[in-house]
Amino acid sequence: MKRLGFALALFALGAVPSSATRETLVVTAIPERTVVVVLFDGFAPAELDAAHPTPNFDRLKREGAWSRHLVPAFPTVSLINHTTFETGCWPEHHGIMSNIFVDPKAGRRFGGDNNGDAGDGAWRTGCETMWEAAERQGVRSAAFNFVGRWSSKTGYRETYYNPEVQWKQHESDDTIVDRALKLLKDNGPNHARLIALYFSIPDHVAHQYGVTGAETQAAVREVDAITGKLMAGIKALPPGREGTLVVGTDHGMMDVGNLVNLGRIMRENDIHAQQATDGASAFFYLDKGESIDRVETALKQYPDIFSVYRKGHYPAYAHLGTGPRSGDLMVVTHPPYWMAGPELFPAWTDWVGMNWLWPHTFKAFTVPLKATHGYDPAVVQMHGIFYAWGAGVKPGEIKRLDQIDVHPTVMRLLGLQPGRPVDGHPIAAVSAPQRGCVGLACLHG
Ligand SMILES: [Zn+2]
Repeated sequence: MKRLGFALALFALGAVPSSATRETLVVTAIPERTVVVVLFDGFAPAELDAAHPTPNFDRLKREGAWSRHLVPAFPTVSLINHTTFETGCWPEHHGIMSNIFVDPKAGRRFGGDNNGDAGDGAWRTGCETMWEAAERQGVRSAAFNFVGRWSSKTGYRETYYNPEVQWKQHESDDTIVDRALKLLKDNGPNHARLIALYFSIPDHVAHQYGVTGAETQAAVREVDAITGKLMAGIKALPPGREGTLVVGTDHGMMDVGNLVNLGRIMRENDIHAQQATDGASAFFYLDKGESIDRVETALKQYPDIFSVYRKGHYPAYAHLGTGPRSGDLMVVTHPPYWMAGPELFPAWTDWVGMNWLWPHTFKAFTVPLKATHGYDPAVVQMHGIFYAWGAGVKPGEIKRLDQIDVHPTVMRLLGLQPGRPVDGHPIAAVSAPQRGCVGLACLHG
């Protein structure tokens, strides 16, 4: 009765509030959004299919946006795709060409035995990581165990990081999960709104035991457990905050057969070049005076094993540009063959004739490798998993997305502009947070 009386009194005074005015009287708390971004290495949908139980991935699929076709950049190997994931750029723009490549201008070799150096963001020739773009726009960020979180030119650009170390001395998965959960609880004035985490599983286990091996299944269950901890951390964010989890991978994985005997192929054709080989492709950087026509003709003698491309005529799927880092020639193996540089084998393999007597392909016995990646991105087993879950996500299947789309998707979820420049686009299933508003600025419609 009292309320009715108050309304009647307003009416009598000709002061019934319009709907817009009423909105100004409602204090709407707009939650602040935090995005946790996770890259699990070498996570193919087939690995997830084989592993049971995976309750957290079941939940991500039930409640979030998901895809079995996150299509990696070529070569479909780790470091090129870690960089594409974090920058949203094709390799021709960020400059990381593979796990192993040569920079002829600088006279340096990236990756391989030099893997500690591979995390150095100074190798990048352009583009911003998601944490650099966030910090530039005033948002605090964290990056743990990701390559490129540190640069010998600029140092650390994110507010929270773990120290750059040699690849194999990374902090443990448990340690970086704890770091992430601690940051999610932090409600201080400098708390992180972007938390980026890299985990090296299940990749190395799948290489050794195959896509559906028991050990790989166990690694996938570990991945599931990590995901569950992060989901719980997001659900427990302090009041007034909301969270989103984005989970992706760098590439898929497939079981393989014989190894290509690149040492013999180079020796019997007297090829004078540096090779940079990993997974399923090799770049050749010809020595001065070596004939590209002659080497191309020589390499084309093995069409059953690999395809040969000359720079400037690389396939459309290879966004490698025509700079000096992308070699003079490239070979791409046909599955199930795979490749490793002859320098990776112990000296005795040469003494017993591997590089001059053994067949052009053979079963590798010095390297216990059952599965790999690196092929043409159209090979469906190279595709990886992708999930987005939580605030700002419209649930459902995403038929496919490219690796370059992850960065702009994360930035949209944060309500920020992507890095400069960027090649990808945000996926349709995500929306930016509502803009913060005060008083009359909250009026809309
Ligand atoms: Zn990888």
